[in-house]
Amino acid sequence: MTFDVAVLIGRFQPFHQGHLHLVGTALERADRLLILLGSHRCAPDTRNPWSSQEREQMIRAALPDSLQERIEFIPLRDHLYSDNLWLAEVQQKVTSATEEGDRVLLVGHRKDRSSYYLELFPQWEREDVPIRGDIHSTAIREAFFSGQPEEIWAADLPPAVQAQLAAYRKTGRYCWLAEEAAYIRTYRQIWSVAPYPPTFVTTDAVVVQSGHVLVVKRRVRPGQGLIALPGGYLHQDEKVVDGMLRELREETGLKVPKPVLEGSIAGSHVFDAPGRSARARVITHAFLIQLKAGPLPAVRGADDAEKAFWMPLADIYAHEDNFFEDHVQIIQHFISRF
Ligand code: NAD
Repeated sequence: MTFDVAVLIGRFQPFHQGHLHLVGTALERADRLLILLGSHRCAPDTRNPWSSQEREQMIRAALPDSLQERIEFIPLRDHLYSDNLWLAEVQQKVTSATEEGDRVLLVGHRKDRSSYYLELFPQWEREDVPIRGDIHSTAIREAFFSGQPEEIWAADLPPAVQAQLAAYRKTGRYCWLAEEAAYIRTYRQIWSVAPYPPTFVTTDAVVVQSGHVLVVKRRVRPGQGLIALPGGYLHQDEKVVDGMLRELREETGLKVPKPVLEGSIAGSHVFDAPGRSARARVITHAFLIQLKAGPLPAVRGADDAEKAFWMPLADIYAHEDNFFEDHVQIIQHFISRF
């Protein structure tokens, strides 16, 4: 053992034999291993189906009793629009789990461009572990959520994870995700014949009044039943701000006169993280509408919204993993500035 602590960052969706090999390597090199479970409490979708708690159970179940005490799990939120905030959180969490002077080793495999984050920790030594087999979580999830036989999705999983996933297939959450996966597959197929991969433009409204934000419950896929900002695709013949006001009215029935809404726009921002939507490349223009204090205007869900309601700002965090795509991060962006 050359190191006191090894750090392994990942989503482990699900935890497979390649990940197990990384854990084994880390524990050969260091006394303790900190597993940072990324994408903690993010919107549930076919890319991030399992919660941090479920992932910890998966990983612990795949390891022998003798190793359990040497491993600690640390959930880690994404900050899609700020690598610096994410880095600060990683640094802070590792610092509080280690002692001053500990020798720290970062373990990982540089699989593609998405592994760029492994280069962002010059303060630690790094071990780039070679890929184990041709094992990819994306392929496992695709086979699992498209209902393929167990021998296809389970081949590269530790036996305990196989058993956990087999049980998971009987849950309502699995059915919901399998339908989401089918919707996304069809959506992508429809657009696969376009001469270029399409980029879609949407708008979102962040209407805030007296410490509440106006949200909807989605009636349609993707994200059916999740909480979202009122918004949608921009029409060919409208300006971005008009598309935002149209969607706001259609989905929430907010009866505030248009000039008042326009006059209450306190900020706008483009949200363009390439992976923010599972459908395709979708860039959204979001607007903050800050209404004057007073009783909350009546709203009612319609069109793509099953329900519209005012949510106290404090409740956003309690419901974080029930929000669609990056909508919590969009709300956070505005409420931390205005
Ligand atoms: P992952 O589960 O895909 O991979 C975890 C590790 O296992 C990686 O080092 C990967 O290369 C390695 N691996 C995968 N297959 C392997 C195989 N067959 N053999 C050997 N090694 C293999 O996790 P990930 O997506 O890389 O996790 C990164 C996390 O960090 C995510 O949650 C991401 O959102 C987060 N992140 C966040 C920000 C931000 O919020 N600004 C920035 C960067 C990263």
